[in-house]
Amino acid sequence: MKLKWSKLKQDKVRENKDAVRRPPADPALLTPRPPVVTIMGHVDHGKTTLLDKLRKTQVAAGEAGGITQHLGAFLVSLPSGEKITFLDTPGHAAFSAMRARGAHVTDIVILVVAADDGVMKQTVESIRHARDAQVPIVLAINKCDKAEADPERVRKELLAYEVVCEDYGGDVQAVDISARTGSNLTALAEATIALAEMLELKADPSGPVEGTVVESFTDKGRGPVTTAIIQRGTLRKGSILVAGKCWAKVRSMFDENGEVLREACPSMPVGIIGWKDLPSAGDEILEVESETRAREVVDWRKYEQEQEKTKDDLKVIEEKRKEHQEGHRKDRDQYGSLHWKERSYLKYQAKKEHKVFRPKEKVERDSNVLPIIIKGDVDGSVEAILDLVDTYDASHECKLDLVHFGVGDITENDVNLAETFGGVIYGFNVNASNAIQQSAAKKQVKIKLHKVIYRLVEDLQEELSIRLPCIVEEHPVGEASVLATFSVTEGKKKVPVAGCRVQKGQLEKRKKFKLIRNGHVIWKGSLTSLKHHKDDVSVIKTGMDCGLSLDEENIEFKVGDEMVCYEEKEVLAKTSWDPGF
Ligand code: GDP
Repeated sequence: MKLKWSKLKQDKVRENKDAVRRPPADPALLTPRPPVVTIMGHVDHGKTTLLDKLRKTQVAAGEAGGITQHLGAFLVSLPSGEKITFLDTPGHAAFSAMRARGAHVTDIVILVVAADDGVMKQTVESIRHARDAQVPIVLAINKCDKAEADPERVRKELLAYEVVCEDYGGDVQAVDISARTGSNLTALAEATIALAEMLELKADPSGPVEGTVVESFTDKGRGPVTTAIIQRGTLRKGSILVAGKCWAKVRSMFDENGEVLREACPSMPVGIIGWKDLPSAGDEILEVESETRAREVVDWRKYEQEQEKTKDDLKVIEEKRKEHQEGHRKDRDQYGSLHWKERSYLKYQAKKEHKVFRPKEKVERDSNVLPIIIKGDVDGSVEAILDLVDTYDASHECKLDLVHFGVGDITENDVNLAETFGGVIYGFNVNASNAIQQSAAKKQVKIKLHKVIYRLVEDLQEELSIRLPCIVEEHPVGEASVLATFSVTEGKKKVPVAGCRVQKGQLEKRKKFKLIRNGHVIWKGSLTSLKHHKDDVSVIKTGMDCGLSLDEENIEFKVGDEMVCYEEKEVLAKTSWDPGF
């Protein structure tokens, strides 16, 4: 009996089948490798221009003469035979996204600062990111071809951020360049190589491959393609790789010129074809011994993710359950002594009132939270959407509540979560089967499928807007100027009257009015009388004179005042959130 129990327990806890990096290599096996460089700096300081120029120099040098492929990274060979790998996505956003995923690919940061602009916000952020990652900097002072360029000022300004150039006794190499004309780019490359030599960058080119995915995309003809930077070992055709929850048998490899590669050594950017699924940027690539082993690793990772997700979902559901209980308790307090039928009736009435304003929406007007579930085709797209959602500030009037996210088609679980939370499901490049659509319709859950990210964002903005309270807008109907003031006696009271001429539109007695003096609204309300000569009228048109009195007797008119007749219209509010497309 005892034996049986322990056997059962063993079955439940699955054995860890993950693949991991090898322990550090024997120093005797290490050989020098090229540095991997990321270009960072403030927007418009010339990062893209510099990358383009470096790439073109390489193509012009006739390395291959093929069509340049976008690989996310490219290799530059110097006349001296030295090589540098540049990551192709400038800016610190990509750098920190990779780091956040635990990928340490960059050896050196080239910090671009425009000599006509100096140190700016993102310059400082770039310095911080490089420092946090303990990656040394080479300074490229750009746009030195401009008359107003002042490279010395840049060197001085950077002292405040503890980036001390060699001229000032520090160890940061600074090169004055022009990315536009290409001047001094060789000096920049040489400075980078000099720094790389000091760093003694080395790797072990033997044994199973280790690397990092830099970019991944699906090519119509070739299927899932990744760009990787190899960090250890030498990649060859036929190698079996795992990355994230995907695996590949390398069918072919190519460089940024589309040239087929026979092998890829440490620090080389390489396009890899042969993936069964699409891994994500930042995923670690590891070579395993067989397809069976690759499947085992991927299965284990999927299993582990499921376990994590289930735990997370349970936590979320538990929190929701508590919220519900709290809601029930509040209901009881509010409608405490009532019979359940009376309670339901009151709630129904409350809902109906809200519906008057937004007849097409089932959303209650006071529901100022939008719970969302995000599903995408690959990690990359889900991450991109999450990054956008991250730009949503908690100070907005409607709260955005990310309930759940993941990769893959919409599932019954998503629909159930959306139902529990009263949320909306957003799918990017994924499907929702007919059965799921029907189930969602039954549960009154909205599923929104998109293929373009900005459409998805627009949709999200609309959903958020729907949940904002309506805005009351004033629409002028007519304007009149006060030409004379007098008062009439009504019983014992003296009522102030304004003699007006309608300048624009018309005054309609039943509508709302405001009195404006020196540009300030000093009264808003209704009229008690509107007369043309002695006759009571309901409308006075442009060019006509009239006498009018207000429902507020303490207001004295003055010649020169303006009376504006207007109507109020309720319009849907628009969220002020703009993720910056
Ligand atoms: P990024 O935002 O840092 O990638 O900056 P870009 O490379 O897009 O450059 C911003 C602007 O500066 C573009 O109009 C470039 O043509 C211009 N620019 C970039 N480098 C130079 C340079 O060395 N000299 C001059 N005069 N203009 C440059």
